[in-house]
Amino acid sequence: MKPFNRKENGRRYIWLGTWAASLFVLAGIVWVGSAFASRNGVHPGTPGSPYANMPSIAPIGVRVDKYLDVPELAKGPAVDPAKGYRTQKLGEGLYMITDGAYQSMFMTYEDGVVVVDAPPSYASQIPKAIAEVTSKPITHLVYSHAHTDHIGGSRTLGGQPIIIAHAETNRLLARDRDPDRPLATVTFEDRYRLSVGSQVLELSYHGNAHLSGNIFIYAPKQRTLMVVDMVFPGWMPWRRFAVAQDIPAYFAQVKEINETNFDTLVGGHVARTGTHADVAMQLAFIEDVKTAAATALKTTAPGEGLTRADRSTNPWAVFDNYIDRVAVACVNQLTPKWSTKLAAYDVYIWDQCYSMEQSLRID
Ligand SMILES: [Zn+2]
Repeated sequence: MKPFNRKENGRRYIWLGTWAASLFVLAGIVWVGSAFASRNGVHPGTPGSPYANMPSIAPIGVRVDKYLDVPELAKGPAVDPAKGYRTQKLGEGLYMITDGAYQSMFMTYEDGVVVVDAPPSYASQIPKAIAEVTSKPITHLVYSHAHTDHIGGSRTLGGQPIIIAHAETNRLLARDRDPDRPLATVTFEDRYRLSVGSQVLELSYHGNAHLSGNIFIYAPKQRTLMVVDMVFPGWMPWRRFAVAQDIPAYFAQVKEINETNFDTLVGGHVARTGTHADVAMQLAFIEDVKTAAATALKTTAPGEGLTRADRSTNPWAVFDNYIDRVAVACVNQLTPKWSTKLAAYDVYIWDQCYSMEQSLRID
């Protein structure tokens, strides 16, 4: 066994130390070099500095530590968490059910119950909610439109109700072949009057805006209008104007709802019903988005801040950079007036500005 040699060991440590230190220095040079290189656009695809006048509202894809507070006006009555839903009487035999995020209706008459929509988030509870007011069976089911988040719970209602929908809804359902969304048994094109006992629902079609086949459902006796995914009382519309398939038609249809005579609006989402004031506010908001995006499209110069190489060889990059700066200007224009008026302004304002500038350019 070799005797312990203090001197030799010490030298080994010095050598190891020097080696580690040079590695550390080398890593430092690489790090500083890469930071310098990316600042000068040498490393393609790495983030650059933010756009000029970047809004304080976090853009899409950026994590938010604390969202804007939900204004009182947007909050509805609380939903009992043990129950999972809240039932609200809207007039003679007409009720809204909500879980705080989705809304549907049911209407009782002499021989049974008509259900309008069956959101899968709470549809299995709908028979229980109905049983709290009547023991009559569900005889009819009306689909507002084909989207699964509003009618995908239909099977859980049980029984064999007559299902009524717009012809376009049935065309989409036939295409999708989803076992959770059975085909309607009765379809119509323009208007359909569902008259059961002493109760009436007037169904009408106003064209494709949110989705083809999305209808207005009006209960004349209760002066209640249900139109789903169009107006969100107290809240920002869901992203990209609630994923409207036709944005100009969406604007026209919100205007139409604003001009319709009703006392209560059931929008299919959020925790409370709506009023004419809610519709008017949403209309004012979307018109402001349109004006802000139109102004930004006119006043933003394309190509600013890009390298000469990107400007001359990458039209997609030129456009993306332009559109991003249009959205920045759009959000900045809207924030002072709207950020505290509508709930979740910060959540979806970028989406609204991006979809608006696109619609203005191509529709
Ligand atoms: Zn929808």
